[in-house]
Amino acid sequence: MDIHEHQAKSILSDFGVPVPRGHLAFSPEQAAHASRQLGGPCVVKAQIHSGGRGAAGGVKLCRTEGEVRSFAASLLGRTLVTKQTGAAGKRVDRLWIEEATDIAQEIYLGFVLDRKSERIMIVASGHGGMEIEDLAATDPDSLVRMVIDPAAGLVDYQARELAFRLGLSGKQIGQFVTTLRACYRAYRDLDAMMVEINPLAITGSGDLVALDAKMSFDTNALYRRPQVAALRDPGQEDPRESSAHDNGLAYVGLDGDIGCIINGAGLAMATMDMIKLAGGEPANFLDIGGGASPERVVTAFRTVLTDPNVGVILVNIFAGINRCDWIAKGVVQAYEEVGLTLPVIVRLSGTNVEEGREIIRTSGLPLLSADTLAEAAKLAVRARPTPLAAE
Ligand code: GDP
Ligand code: MN
Repeated sequence: MDIHEHQAKSILSDFGVPVPRGHLAFSPEQAAHASRQLGGPCVVKAQIHSGGRGAAGGVKLCRTEGEVRSFAASLLGRTLVTKQTGAAGKRVDRLWIEEATDIAQEIYLGFVLDRKSERIMIVASGHGGMEIEDLAATDPDSLVRMVIDPAAGLVDYQARELAFRLGLSGKQIGQFVTTLRACYRAYRDLDAMMVEINPLAITGSGDLVALDAKMSFDTNALYRRPQVAALRDPGQEDPRESSAHDNGLAYVGLDGDIGCIINGAGLAMATMDMIKLAGGEPANFLDIGGGASPERVVTAFRTVLTDPNVGVILVNIFAGINRCDWIAKGVVQAYEEVGLTLPVIVRLSGTNVEEGREIIRTSGLPLLSADTLAEAAKLAVRARPTPLAAE
């Protein structure tokens, strides 16, 4: 789960990272009020769950209150498309108004989970700022990487070594060690997946301050981090995914037109592969889980149908804990309750498969039954109203 910059700054500041003063604004009036309170030049920043805002016109240094007000008015309600959002972009509903900082140098600082070493890794560069991705691509060796031993935690000599490798000196070293420790604790204590400060600025007077902050969290750990879970902003999520999330379904929206309702993550992945092999494109990943009642199947249909691109639905169930007759009843119920008009391909296998197939066969509905996964995928590709790719 991602959170906003201002939320990440507030968390990191509580752990000890130096951040500029700032205020949240949901209207141009609030933005103007914030700039009066800060008194002096401000940076107006779109709060969306994405980086690359600067390059997309979502960050601006404003000298006067009037400038803050008019930039805020132009930004609020707009959809920003950045390098990271995809074509759909993200809507700007809130702004962060921050006192401007005089930047002498921009440092990049990131904490990520390194799956290879199974440890938290620090990635840093003395050449941070908006071009860091280019630098990572053209000169990856210029990034400093450091792995943290979970038994010892981040130790001060490591933090100092990193400071030296970035060319920091004097009071910056102590400030950098404090910042690193704070980020590490925030990462560890809140079950984060990523903490990123870019830029961590060196100011004209030689102090360090975090001008941007990004944090994302392990969704599987949110149950024990209610204060983090409360920071969720459904307005920034794919609407298809938030409704699925609210219904307790594991759903990921994709770009194709074949809606998928499947039980088990592995079977869902295999089904998506089969669809691709048959020349189609899945519209989603959806795992309805084990023991799915007919009601849950109906909810799955509703979720898949929130995506207007869906032209056909493929139901693929291997019933171990599940029962094929439940699933079949759910499909029939969905036809009636949702007023389904799209073709539906059903492939059932496992517990009570004969009862399930009988329900599908005698339903009198335009349901296509398939015996194997390969057959189901082929039928789905053929049943699409508007084929995407040339076949
Ligand atoms: P991002 O593009 O989404 O990563 O947004 P950032 O918060 O990093 O802002 C983009 C750029 O704006 C930064 O890399 C800085 O160069 C600049 N910026 C951000 N805050 C300030 C500030 O307080 N003063 C000045 N002069 N520039 C800033
Ligand atoms: Mn940034």
